[in-house]
Amino acid sequence: MTTDPQHDLFARARAVIPGGVNSPVRAYGSVGGDPRFIASGSGPFVTDTTGQQYVDLVMSWGPGLLGHAHPEVVEAVTAAARHGLSFGAPTESEVELAEAIRDRVPPAEKVRMVSTGTEATMTAIRLARGATGRDLVVKFAGCYHGHVDALLAEAGSGVATFGLPGSSGVTAATAAETVVVPYNDVEAVEAVFAERGSEIAAVITEAAPANMGVVPPEPGFNAALRRLTADHGALLILDEVLTGFRVGPAGWWGLDGAAGGEVTATGSEPWNPDLFTFGKVVGGGMPLAAVGGRAALMDLLSPSGPVYQAGTLSGNPLATAAGLATLRLADDAVYARVDRVADAVADAAAAALEAVGVPHRVQRAGNLFSIMFGEEAARDAVWDYAGAQAQDAFRYPPFFHAMLDAGVALPPSVFEAWFVSAAHDDDAVEAILAALPKAARAAAA
Ligand code: PLP
Repeated sequence: MTTDPQHDLFARARAVIPGGVNSPVRAYGSVGGDPRFIASGSGPFVTDTTGQQYVDLVMSWGPGLLGHAHPEVVEAVTAAARHGLSFGAPTESEVELAEAIRDRVPPAEKVRMVSTGTEATMTAIRLARGATGRDLVVKFAGCYHGHVDALLAEAGSGVATFGLPGSSGVTAATAAETVVVPYNDVEAVEAVFAERGSEIAAVITEAAPANMGVVPPEPGFNAALRRLTADHGALLILDEVLTGFRVGPAGWWGLDGAAGGEVTATGSEPWNPDLFTFGKVVGGGMPLAAVGGRAALMDLLSPSGPVYQAGTLSGNPLATAAGLATLRLADDAVYARVDRVADAVADAAAAALEAVGVPHRVQRAGNLFSIMFGEEAARDAVWDYAGAQAQDAFRYPPFFHAMLDAGVALPPSVFEAWFVSAAHDDDAVEAILAALPKAARAAAA
């Protein structure tokens, strides 16, 4: 026993949970120190087990678009719970949620619900292989799609945080079925298609990557992937687990594909992926994710088609209640607020670092942002994983801890986006802005 209850709790946790956590980045491995064990959350705040409160910029890694414990979401889940926790039978609420997703993202004509983003991408890959009769999957270095065996090669998020090439336990045969290409490199994708086009089942990409830090697609990049996949009879899987319903009412696709590349200023024709994966916001903080796409393609899933997929807790009534309540509440005012908060915090972070001469660039993709440290990033925007890894990552731990000491909880890794919510009111934003100058000085040291 020490005098630090968080330290003691982490020791207890490590005795019974590998690394003391149920998802690696939570362990503070790359920033050092003991993770805060959270007892509760409300609006923009989380409170740890010692009663210390923090303005939260993790927001459960994305789901918390409305803030923690939004009363209407909690009420919807509570009401659903009173009727039973799980049935393993269809419910009206999952139909309503599928309709709500399709209403916002019309090319998701049909939707299959699962419990995690990992399951969603795994299902999308299986479906693409089943639909095309091909095995090969193309992914981008630095894009994270969950811990699916086939997608762990050069993945971002925790794999980036811990500097791993991939994961032990993934067979060579599985790894050989994934081709990894540098992000934002259309020529590299063209070269893979020129060489192995007839073997490629799908290209999977984060709609706007935020797991190697935020690295937005270059103008026209997603549209180019659409064109190349279509030309070669492969599917395009747009992974919107993180961006979906967060960067706007219809996710990144709403800003990019639906708008004819408006967000990336290409002025191209509107484009649709074959399959979307959703997660995080769509479950409102409960375990729920989904695959969506053209009806004919989605109907290849069992029981209407030959591609098997199932789940005891899929479409769980508490999770669908949380997702539905969240989507109903996430109106234009919510997105406008989230965008405004993102602008304020991103600009203030840049100004604070600028003031003390720390070379950096704040990278943005809609309301998602993160800091890339270093001269190179300051000179030119970072467009790929190699650029993200080349940054002065050593500046982040002191920056992170100075923010934490001042009562602001940032993501405990430089490779993650900062997540704001509509519940970050002016006081919460003020608290973040007030903490930044000292954190910038810590990063400068
Ligand atoms: N895809 C993306 C883009 C993600 O950011 C994540 C998680 O961060 C996943 C998939 C995996 O989702 P989950 O952690 O729910 O399995």
